[in-house]
Amino acid sequence: MSDNDTHQQPASQIRRRFLQAAGVAGLVLGKSASAQTTPPDHLAPRPSPQSIRPLPEGRRPFGYAIVGLGKYAINQILPAFGECQHARLAGLVSGDPQKARKVASAYGVPEKNIYSYDNFDDIRNNPEIDAVYIILPNALHADFAVRAFRAGKHVMCEKPMATSVEDCQRMIDAARRASKQLMIGYRCHFDPITQRAIQTIRAGKLGKLRVVTTENTDVLSIDDPSGQWRVKRSLSGGGSLMDLGIYGVNGARYLLNEDPIEVSAIRAESSNPVFHEVEDIISWTFRYRSGALAHGNSSFTAAATSRFGIQAEKLSGTLNPATGYYNNRFETVAGEETHVLSDPMFQIPALNQFSAQLDHLPDVLGCGKPSLATGEEGMQDIRLIQAIYQSAATRRPVSTDWGDWRRKA
Ligand code: NDP
Repeated sequence: MSDNDTHQQPASQIRRRFLQAAGVAGLVLGKSASAQTTPPDHLAPRPSPQSIRPLPEGRRPFGYAIVGLGKYAINQILPAFGECQHARLAGLVSGDPQKARKVASAYGVPEKNIYSYDNFDDIRNNPEIDAVYIILPNALHADFAVRAFRAGKHVMCEKPMATSVEDCQRMIDAARRASKQLMIGYRCHFDPITQRAIQTIRAGKLGKLRVVTTENTDVLSIDDPSGQWRVKRSLSGGGSLMDLGIYGVNGARYLLNEDPIEVSAIRAESSNPVFHEVEDIISWTFRYRSGALAHGNSSFTAAATSRFGIQAEKLSGTLNPATGYYNNRFETVAGEETHVLSDPMFQIPALNQFSAQLDHLPDVLGCGKPSLATGEEGMQDIRLIQAIYQSAATRRPVSTDWGDWRRKA
């Protein structure tokens, strides 16, 4: 999100409390970039992490260096280390040495583990850092991932993986050459509500899925530095689709468990000079071999929404909010009966999705778990996003019947 700040308002308050406890309250950046629905009043906030969890015996901490200390890194990822079981914050990479020192002192990162973008490659000599987590503007992801692999580190990279298919391939090739893991920051694999929805669907409880609809919108603030690069094509690679619509593209594929064979799209004209380089509103339809359709839209000028509608043969379902930081909600409706699954705290024991995501990479490496968010997965989304842009530009459907990318990977 610029993701989803409103429905995580209580959570950001909690985070703020945690940061205050850690002495870095002044570092909480802005109000969250994107706002969505406020959680229902009856939901209590998640408990604040009071202390760092002890590592399970015999496991060495897995050290991450965070690359780019912007909103998402400071407000969501850094505090999440407090609830990690295996992952530890080991280093920081920033273009702002003063900010980096402040964060380092708040989180107990030694000064020798602070890097700039210029001396980033020296990270190869630091055995405390196992992986880098790239949280930079989109167009910078690929170069930093390739540099990290050259330095012998694993990489976690934020969505969108990169701004072109060629850059995605470059990242995948560099990971293979270095024999290191590349993981994309798709939180849906670690959000307990999304996981329950997926289990319910895969168990056939909704019947065969026929139509998925998805809306991902938020009002972009151009006064905010984090909004400014999002409308510069050279840094973002695209507008609302790259930033927010990607949740819909990835989510539709995840819910339907199928890749589309054809894409049609339309982009709205905007007279707003802010959207001179990138799109504001764009709408797309995916056609699937199974006969299903998915339809999505995204916008930078519509109030925050993050929603999936699922029409299936037996039941219909809704994820709303779908991609929030906390308190997502899954609802199924059959006739007059509505079943709601909403609160991870009370109904589903789970770590928060950020900590679970950070712990996943050491789990993949240490326990041989299959990676839930590979580079190939990230590249497929970028391929489809490029097909959406092509269809919107040519006003023609684009074939995406590329065969099974999973087998080629
Ligand atoms: P911000 O603008 O808040 O932060 C980006 C940071 O990157 C800056 O603070 C700066 O850190 C660094 N940076 C380096 N070069 C530049 C540059 N040329 N222009 C601007 N910043 C630069 O962005 P976000 O934190 O919102 O987003 C960062 C990434 O995270 C994006 O790829 C975004 O898509 C993704 N994201 C993912 C979310 C999710 O839910 N998975 C949610 C939000 C974002 P410094 O000052 O330390 O150098």
